[in-house]
Amino acid sequence: MPPKILPLPPQTIDLIAAGEVIQRPSAIIKELIENSLDASSTSIDVHANGLDVTVSDNGCGIDRECLKLACTRFATSKITDFEDLRRVKTFGFRGEALASCSMVGRVGITSRVRGARCAYRMNFRDGAPVNDLLGVGGEVEAKPCAGKEGTTIQVQDLFYNVPSRRRAMEGRRNEREEYERILAVVQRYAVHEARRGVGFMCRGAGKGGKQCDLNTQSLGSVKKVMEKRKRVDDTCDEKSFDDDEIAAVKEVIGHVFGGDLTRELLSLSAGEGDVSAVGLLALKAMARLNDAECFKDEKKSCTDTELDAESMEAVGVHNRTLAEEMMMGTSKSNADNKSVTPSKSQESSVLDDSTAKSPELAFAYKATGLITNSSYSVPKSSAAFLLFINDRLVESPSLRRAVESIYSDTLPRGGKPFVYLSLELPGPHVDVNVHPTKKEVALLHEDRLCDALAAAVREVIGSATSSRTFLVAG
Ligand code: ADP
Ligand code: MG
Repeated sequence: MPPKILPLPPQTIDLIAAGEVIQRPSAIIKELIENSLDASSTSIDVHANGLDVTVSDNGCGIDRECLKLACTRFATSKITDFEDLRRVKTFGFRGEALASCSMVGRVGITSRVRGARCAYRMNFRDGAPVNDLLGVGGEVEAKPCAGKEGTTIQVQDLFYNVPSRRRAMEGRRNEREEYERILAVVQRYAVHEARRGVGFMCRGAGKGGKQCDLNTQSLGSVKKVMEKRKRVDDTCDEKSFDDDEIAAVKEVIGHVFGGDLTRELLSLSAGEGDVSAVGLLALKAMARLNDAECFKDEKKSCTDTELDAESMEAVGVHNRTLAEEMMMGTSKSNADNKSVTPSKSQESSVLDDSTAKSPELAFAYKATGLITNSSYSVPKSSAAFLLFINDRLVESPSLRRAVESIYSDTLPRGGKPFVYLSLELPGPHVDVNVHPTKKEVALLHEDRLCDALAAAVREVIGSATSSRTFLVAG
């Protein structure tokens, strides 16, 4: 007899899905930090003690009514339909992180909305509110309590219901290794978010939970950016990297990876194309493909306002009618459609044939960062490759290889550089939905980006080396 195919019970499905999102405590910390950043916090505290973790922030808070839904699977305040997914600027959008935490641990949330009279607290298990952390039943209501403005999320007793994973995490050695991973996540976000004046604190189990392993909240340069941001509350979308912001990032790098390192850092700034223009075109092309409602609404406006000369210039389309047709969907941008094949004169101004036919696929990127020079081999503890794509901490073995290979000619064998890179790419060219923990992302034009970054790094360290030689010679 062949075995019968039976649907799994919903609880088992939830547990399997949660296990994928929440692979380990450091994955929770990343999700919670990203939630705090989405809530526009300027100060984020992380406390990790083995399988209990807590993250507190001073962000916008969650109001009493919404608190009930915080751990409901696929409930989110960040997108409302699939189209929003294309333009999502927040880290979260799936409404899965807190739900998953509550499937594999006991979650407690205390939150006070800015300006509210008091905080409210609620506990959760298996995606639903419960009366206390042990999950004893009864009427469940958010309880008023004392608390500072912002949100504190505790996840306790992690993997209490997944014994095999719990065993793999228990014990002094495993806990220490896991704490190292958590600290690495906090350090990286502390470096990157310094440019927006966000300060971090990280404490482990040492000295009864009082040992602080990282605190960037009191650094002068970070505070300065934070103050500035309070005065002009427009820096959220601002992508420029001004002197104060560079100073803050440098100070945090010094604080985390050692002061010596900061003296060896070179600024990198490179780019090609107009990231937002390409993003806009890509968005519209996708919306058109999906025949989305939002595109229908945009039909009126996209010809005169958004599709301006500059955006067309940026993606190398100079024929307005062609571009308009593409955007209006009256002409398909597919390669097989002869009517959109650019004329000779357009061809010369576009990057390559395929981007000419589909300007939304044009290559565009902007990179800013700080990298060590070609002769400084960093101590092992400071060797690092910090990569942020559209502000998200990600890993990309191919980008890392491309950048580090530039150093391999000059650094002694086994020597490593320190590299912090923040890349801005057209939103629709980055697919963050390929990995359950959103750690890895799929990139359109990955090879080209590797080449462009390698060239940018070569140029920065090359010109620094030649100016040094020049100084010595002079
Ligand atoms: P997502 O981030 O994908 O929306 P989450 O499960 O991480 O899903 O969070 C669910 C919701 O809880 C969020 O959409 C947000 O409204 C709220 N939330 C979570 N963490 C915070 C926080 N630190 N401050 C304010 N709101 C929060
Ligand atoms: Mg989230």
